[in-house]
Amino acid sequence: MAATILAIANQKGGVGKTTTAVNLAASLAVAEQRTLLVDMDPQGNASSGVGVDSRGLAETIYPVLLDEALLSEVIRRTDLGGLHLVAANTDLIGAELELVALDDRETCLQRALLEVMDDYDYVLIDCPPSLGLLTVNALVAAHQVLVPLQCEYYAMEGLGHLTKTIELIRQQLNPRLILEGIVLTMFDQRNNLSHLVSEEARQHFGRSVYDTVIPRNVRLSEAPSHGQPVLLYDIGSKGAQAYMQLAEEFLRRCAHGEKTRVR
Ligand code: ADP
Ligand code: MG
Repeated sequence: MAATILAIANQKGGVGKTTTAVNLAASLAVAEQRTLLVDMDPQGNASSGVGVDSRGLAETIYPVLLDEALLSEVIRRTDLGGLHLVAANTDLIGAELELVALDDRETCLQRALLEVMDDYDYVLIDCPPSLGLLTVNALVAAHQVLVPLQCEYYAMEGLGHLTKTIELIRQQLNPRLILEGIVLTMFDQRNNLSHLVSEEARQHFGRSVYDTVIPRNVRLSEAPSHGQPVLLYDIGSKGAQAYMQLAEEFLRRCAHGEKTRVR
């Protein structure tokens, strides 16, 4: 079966997109799903998060978007069997401008991914913190969007822009796109604000909000500096357990979605 493509998006920075992309991807790979992680952020945090130093690297998503390389030529293995990566680095800053000049500027990633659709069960795309052309490419390529929501002040602010963008892309470029879910990140059990954000999100988005909540956990913030997903860095940590649980819930929801689509 062809891969399911999941974009992890929120135009706010620092909400847990990359942490979720890296650790959900790693957890899916451990669950024996063939998984490709695509870094679409010029900061390259998803790349370094799985141990790839992308600075100065030529084999990244950048030449692929500009049709100067095939995706298969830039895919690399990671330390985790079953998890492959397409890296990104600061070259990608230029892509946003260079893509504007192209006719099919919104569909570059979608076209590139076609080549490997049968090689993977899941493709996860880590989006940059904007709703620019890179994120639009991710949303056009994707079947589903997962939105990390940081349990902080103003968590919900700006979500309207994101859902509107998703709606526009569904109408104009990618009718199959769905907001698959919202995952609460950096949840602090002892902080009343965390509970308030959770309540508000569940009131507003209902069952779209994952039951699994990602706690604030220092191991999650340490793991990237070791170039490791948290389940390689400290599998016993609360963070690792939470992301494995998220992967389980994600797979369950995908299986259920498949059934309801068939009917
Ligand atoms: P984004 O990709 O949305 O900008 P990141 O995933 O890079 O956000 O997270 C922002 C910062 O917060 C990073 O330093 C990351 O290590 C840290 N972080 C993310 N999730 C957690 C968590 N659940 N607990 C502790 N720190 C976290
Ligand atoms: Mg990021």
